Amino acid sequence: MRPYPFILLIAALISPLCGADLVPGKSVFGEHHYIEYVPGDLPLIIAAPHGGYEVPAEIPSRKNGVTDSDANTQELARTIAAVIHAQTGRHIHLIICRLHRSKLDANREKTEAAGGEALAEQAWKEHHAFIDQACETAVKTYGVAFLIDLHGHGHADARVELGYLHSAPELAEGDEALNQSRIVALSSLRLIAEQNNVRYTDLLRGPHSLGALLEAQDFPATPSPRMPVPTLPYFRGGYTIAQHCDAKRHITGLQIEANRPHLRDTPEHRQHFAHALTSALDFFFHLHIGFGINGERDQSPGPPVPDPVKPAEAKTPAQ
Ligand SMILES: [Zn+2]
Repeated sequence: MRPYPFILLIAALISPLCGADLVPGKSVFGEHHYIEYVPGDLPLIIAAPHGGYEVPAEIPSRKNGVTDSDANTQELARTIAAVIHAQTGRHIHLIICRLHRSKLDANREKTEAAGGEALAEQAWKEHHAFIDQACETAVKTYGVAFLIDLHGHGHADARVELGYLHSAPELAEGDEALNQSRIVALSSLRLIAEQNNVRYTDLLRGPHSLGALLEAQDFPATPSPRMPVPTLPYFRGGYTIAQHCDAKRHITGLQIEANRPHLRDTPEHRQHFAHALTSALDFFFHLHIGFGINGERDQSPGPPVPDPVKPAEAKTPAQ
């Protein structure tokens, strides 16, 4: 994964401003309140880049790229955070882009994301700097950060699409091909895959994959044992996951694309999914990372947990 220099710079600029004042569960904001960061004390970070509503006149609308928002994903992210807080008494990290996607697409590289508009570029930098800050905080405490970039799709097949940075044709190549180290190296789950004795394809779509754990709770998902190769169209994971998930920095995770019917459409459905996802993540973390959703380490030896890295070693020089 290739970090980029301006993110390091912004992270350095933001950290001294609010690092000492950060309180888990208490929101802080970037300039003009376009980006909201709710700091946490758990190793889970959820970003919601496409659920914003703000359409400030001072930012001209984007002329290129997708401008439709992902309905109710901001609400879904906040519901997941609330469910986990109710269960554990602790907070996940939340990064919310409050700008509508017609003003900023935080899940794209900067040029497409902001269309050259200075205020949108500033918000984009803040969005990614807050993700960096959240991940670094998690790694310092837990030795690992688990990042979910949360989206909503409108595809005809109403299933949860789990994006690990593999395309559908890549997933169709079969287990033997997928388990090669050069393919694992491309995965957003690379950190977990390389630290565990589990076969990579088991992690991806076996009985203990996130897809299987969601399907067991009546949320169709792919990849999963039922649908190991997603039908098209399928979202494989985008800019944010590709940029931030980095085994060297002990950051792993995935993009989650939630369907709308029976999941995002009503507060009750969002609550139901939030409970299912929390349960699935708890199981997945215990199995593959060695602690629960509450951040408590497992007593049994379990799978190895990577040692925390020092911030100075956390990133390789920009390329
Ligand atoms: Zn989206």
